[in-house]
Amino acid sequence: MPLFEYRCSACGHESEHLVLRPDERVVCPSCESPRLERLISRPAVSSEEGRRRASRAIRAKNRSTRRDQAEAEAARIRAHDDE
Ligand SMILES: [Zn+2]
Repeated sequence: MPLFEYRCSACGHESEHLVLRPDERVVCPSCESPRLERLISRPAVSSEEGRRRASRAIRAKNRSTRRDQAEAEAARIRAHDDE
């Protein structure tokens, strides 16, 4: 869900908004100012750092999958030796 955190430039109030379109206008629920800055703590995987972090996570996941397969293979060989 495209839920983003914003901080109001006028009064500093922080709020979450569901933004379904990139051009959707959001206003501060406290003072109704449209000058909201999006905080990057939420999904915002559009940033360069977000992409780097996501690809690192994918690589780490692939590494652990390969290790699991190696362990399964080792266990299979050990089981085979017992026969
Ligand atoms: Zn405000």
